[in-house]
Parts: sequence; structure tokens; C-alpha cells
Amino acid sequence: MSDVAARAAELRQKLEYHNWRYYVLDDPVITDSEYDRMLRELIELEEKYPELRTPDSPTQRVGGAPRPEFGTVVHRVPMFSLANAYSEEELRDFDRRVRDLAGEAKVEYVVELKIDGLAVSLTYENGVFVQGATRGDGVTGEDITANLRTVRSLPLRLREEAGAPPLLEVRGEVFMPKQAFLELNARREEEGEPLFANPRNAAAGSLRQLDPKVTAERSLDTFLYGLGAMEGLELSTHWELLAFLRRAGFKVNPHIRLCSNIEEAIEYCLNWRERRAELPYPIDGLVLKVNSLELQRALGTTAKSPRWAVAYKFPAEQAETRLKEIVVSVGRTGVLTPTAVFDPPVKLAGTTVSRAVLHNEEIIRERDIRVGDIVLVEKAGDIIPEVVASRPERRTGEEKVFTMPKKCPACGAEVVRLPGEVAYRCPNVSCPARLRESLIHFGSRAAMDIDGLGPAVINQLLERGLVKNVADLYRLQAEELAKLPRFGAKSAANLIAALEESKSRSWDRLLYALGIRYVGATVAKTLAAHFPDLRSLMAASKEELTAIPGVGEKVAASLVEFFAEPQNRATIERLAEAGVNMSGQRKERAGPLAGKTFVLTGTLAGFTRAEAQAAIEARGGRVTGSVSRATDYVVAGEKPGSKLEKARALGVPVLSEEEFKKLLEA
Ligand code: NAD
Repeated sequence: MSDVAARAAELRQKLEYHNWRYYVLDDPVITDSEYDRMLRELIELEEKYPELRTPDSPTQRVGGAPRPEFGTVVHRVPMFSLANAYSEEELRDFDRRVRDLAGEAKVEYVVELKIDGLAVSLTYENGVFVQGATRGDGVTGEDITANLRTVRSLPLRLREEAGAPPLLEVRGEVFMPKQAFLELNARREEEGEPLFANPRNAAAGSLRQLDPKVTAERSLDTFLYGLGAMEGLELSTHWELLAFLRRAGFKVNPHIRLCSNIEEAIEYCLNWRERRAELPYPIDGLVLKVNSLELQRALGTTAKSPRWAVAYKFPAEQAETRLKEIVVSVGRTGVLTPTAVFDPPVKLAGTTVSRAVLHNEEIIRERDIRVGDIVLVEKAGDIIPEVVASRPERRTGEEKVFTMPKKCPACGAEVVRLPGEVAYRCPNVSCPARLRESLIHFGSRAAMDIDGLGPAVINQLLERGLVKNVADLYRLQAEELAKLPRFGAKSAANLIAALEESKSRSWDRLLYALGIRYVGATVAKTLAAHFPDLRSLMAASKEELTAIPGVGEKVAASLVEFFAEPQNRATIERLAEAGVNMSGQRKERAGPLAGKTFVLTGTLAGFTRAEAQAAIEARGGRVTGSVSRATDYVVAGEKPGSKLEKARALGVPVLSEEEFKKLLEA
């Protein structure tokens, strides 16, 4: 008995901890299926030994406590959780209990998809949205009105058909569509921010932002499915309620089904179990609700959930395999990410999975995952493969506990963990792994869009030491490229031309391409709209930066820090010398030399370099730093350098100072 009591206490303590991580921090370290497994074990213990049940047990509570940063809202009608069923049998048990309590032979159910998001309560007074809240602990939630106003599918005013009832509390789910979740995480990875474990946490994290601007940028959507308090409304079934919500202007999920008995409902559930991957948003099951509102009232609720509804939860798609190794990669911002490699790869929800990101050391420790372990792999929310748990009972003794390397696996620099961050980082700005990722980012579509600068080419450039910094890209010569394996004269010339072309990109792209932490494509555009050029941005203080709408403390601090670093300033200087555009004025303006590219070499008698450049630009031309096939003219003065030889080799027209003057006057 004391063993059982100890186990119950242990489970309670663990569940409390995970509740806090999940509901308060939006940052769980175990998967939902593991959490549910522990919760079920505790429920079973408490059912067998009721004396072990404590009033504060996680089995008796809904959700998590509201965070103090938000104002609190006391729900007029409590917001409940749902009892779970994991099999057809458990659904039939539920139906039997309902029919027994109701004293009826057959009960009608409405079956709805169980959207994997965050429950919210929306209050409308005389048809106007006045307040929105999270579920919180079911009794008290957080006031997130300002954030909810940014969710586009949420009506700020009810449609006239709804008849503007004096009070209406509508309940439903705010969620993040799968595609938006993947894009958000890709962006966060680029910006060196921790990833969200699943769309539910991403939705919760987005909605519970202190700054509604951040919420507005996240693609959140809604489905409404219930009512709390209401005045001036007569409804007799849940089905009517859903129809009313739709008329009132809310989004109601289209896949609702009225079933005349439990068998029909079960069939509908099993059908969706097969088809859930088709949906553009995540679901983790279906919800069965008694259709008659009168019967709902008669059945009532337990402390935690209504007796008239049940959630049918899909079994997770899982498979076992061996975790062969944990490899650690270094991202552009230096973040070290451990990834599990499986042997053999496993089939999950239609795809073959050979690796899974383990995120951080804490998750590895919490799930007790060791190298060599037999592990359970699952597709969380059917999107991202995850290592759920290890099988300690199948250990041979050969398994090794993983620790994060103390030194960067790519360059050997001592790794650091910044205060308040879970991630470890390589602090070396010229770390080859970071450099590789920076180059990939620099050339990527949304950045400088350099055609032909893919990962394979970058690897070759790095191996040969041709590039040690993004600015080195613009010093590459066609001849040296042509010597690389699998690289003919043609692809060399193409890459040089692509690099040349990239010099004229708008400067917000350059800013994004520099890979400054927290400066994504959107922030870069905002900044470029506020400053005439990169140099004035570099000179801006933190205060000037935070004064710009859309630029927060974090972004400002990151910019100031980046531009204070001498190495970064030197890189920018070299990019400028190479002719990369750094200002709002596009260099190709109209004029007789529009679209023409010049390279200057040697000393001119009648012009300084700057004067010559200004004369060309005034006529719509452009000056770049190196000669390529894309160069239209090389202007050669006294003592020309290697650029002249190169121009001759490539057959680029060379102008003397006299010819240059004539061209300007023409
Ligand atoms: P729940 O998610 O199982 O069910 C209740 C919720 O379902 C409602 O509050 C509502 O938000 C949602 N819902 C979606 N569609 C609905 C519909 N059509 N009708 C009614 N409700 C609908 O219960 P819960 O109490 O919100 O949370 C438990 C979940 O949280 C479990 O999945 C659990 O695994 C997870 N959790 C995980 C951790 C972790 O550490 N991984 C910790 C705590 C909780």
C-alpha cells in the first residue's frame, strides 16, 4: 500500500510539473501521449484506492492557473475539460452511462472534430465583442481580449440574424493551421528562436503574448462550438446551437455530424481516424456531445468535465526502433541542435522517418533517452516525428547517457549557454558550420536570391578555403570556380552572373541576408522603410529603433549588438566595396547608361573614384567591384590592376579615360 501511495504522489508531482510547462509556459518537455499515459495511471490508482485521491490532484483539475501578467476573468459558467475515451469499447461505456442516467433506450449525439488548439471564451454584449479569455483553470482565465481582436475570423460584432442578445458567451477553439505552424517554426529556426513543439503550443504561445502585434503576425484561426452564459436565446439542441453560431457569423467546423445512436457516432470517429491527414489543421480526436440540451442539463458535470460529452482520442501513430546516435548540428546563429538518428528507419503515418530533432538537453533528460536505446517514435499531431520515450527495460548496459558537447562540434570553440536560454550556442562568429549556414541563408530566395549557390557549391567553396565570409562571395573569379569538381566554365560564369545580379537587390533583402538574430524578412522591410540606407540604420540607437512600430526591444538590442561587432562592420564595408546595394535608391535609374555595369581600375586624371562613380550613376549606370561577364565596361586609368587583365580575358570592352568621357557626354 505504501508503494502505491508513493507512486500516486510521484505521478501527481510529475503531472503538476508538466501541467505548468504545458499550460503556463507553452513549452512541454514530454509528449501528450506520455502525459495522458501518466494521467490514466493516476486515475486508475485513484479509482482503485479512493482514499489516495486528494482535492488538488491533477485528476480533479482543469488546465493551468492563469499567468499573473494578464488580467484575470472569472468565467460566468465554468469552462470544463473533457473525459477521454481511447477505444470503441470506452465510447460504448460512455453511451451506456448516459442512457442509464437518462433512462432512455437511445440517445442522439453530435460528433465534432476535436481541434487541437486552445479553448477560449468570447463575450458579446448587445452583439458586440467585449472580452475574450483563455480557459485557465476552468474557473478563472486570462484576459486576452486585445490579442483575440487580431484573429481575423473572429467577428467583432454579431451578424444581424443573431438578434443582438444582451449577453452571449461563445466558446470554441483558437488554432494554428498546419502550414502556418511549419512556416512559423522555419522562421523561428532561421531567427535562432526555440521551436514550438506542436501547433497547439504555437497557438497558445501566440495568443498569450503580452504584445498583441506579435499575435497579429501569427496565422491563427477559429472554430466555435459552444455557449457559456446567455440571455435572450432559446435553443433546445446542440445541433441548433451550432446552426445559430453559424448564423451569428462564427466559423463552425463543416465536419459536424448528427448521429442517431452511438454506433453511427463510432463509425464517424473511425472514419476520421483514417482521414485526419487530409485536414489543413490539427485534430487529436473527435468529441461526442449529447444533442438534447435538456438531457445535458439533467446529466450535469463532474468537477472536471461534463457528463454529457466525451473526447475520443486517436491512438498516436507510434513505432519502436533503435536510436543509433545523436548528432549535433550548429545553426547559423550558433544554436546547437541534437538530432536522433534511427536504425532502422521507421514507417509512420505514411512516411519513412530516419531522424527526429530532440530540441534540447532538457527534453532528452526528461524522456530518459540514451544513445543505443530502443525508443518509441511518434508523429506528434501527425506532423513532426518525435522520440516519445525510451524502453529502459530493454537496455543491455551498452547505452550511453547523452550530454551536450562542451565544445562546438564544428570549430571546437567552448559552447555557451546565455542566461535565460535553454539553447547552447557556439559563440564563434567565424565557425565553419555557422558560416556554412550563413552562406546558405545569404543566397536563399528571400535573401539575396543567388541562383546556383546551393549547399553543395557552398561546401566546395568552404573546403577550398575560397570563402571565409559572405563578402568573399563577391571576390570569386570564374576561373577558380571552373576548377571545382563538377563545375564547368558555364556554371562558373552563371554563378558569377548571379552574384553580380544580386548586388542590385533592394537593401531590406541584404539586411535580412546578413542573418541578424530576430531580423526576419518582415522586420527587415519595416526597417528599410524607416531608414534611407544601411549606414543610417547602423548608426541608430536602441531608442530610435524601438520607436519604430513593429520593432521590439529584442530586435533593437540584437541590431545594436550586431553592428557594434567590428567583424560585422568590416563585412558590410567589404560588401559595399564590392558594389552591393545598401540604400533605398535603386542604383539603376533612368538615363543613357541605364542597365550598364561599370568597373573602375587604375587612376583617372580628371576624376576621383567617387566622382567617376557619381557620373556613371547620375546617368543611370552602376559601378561594381569586380569584373565578370555581366560587366559592360571596364574603365582603365593609370596603373590598372588585375581587373584590366580579367576584362581582356573575358572580352569585356575596356575604355580609356578619353573614351569614358566621350561616353558620358554622348
Ligand atoms: P483535452 O484537450 O483532452 O479536451 C478538452 C479541450 O478540447 C477543450 O478545452 C477544448 O479546448 C478542446 N476541444 C477541441 N475541439 C472541441 C470541441 N469540438 N468541443 C469541445 N471541446 C473541444 O483536455 P485539456 O484539459 O484541455 O488538456 C489535456 C490535453 O493537454 C491532453 O491532450 C494532454 O495530453 C495535454 N497536456 C499535455 C502536457 C504535456 O506535458 N505534454 C501537459 C498537460 C496537458
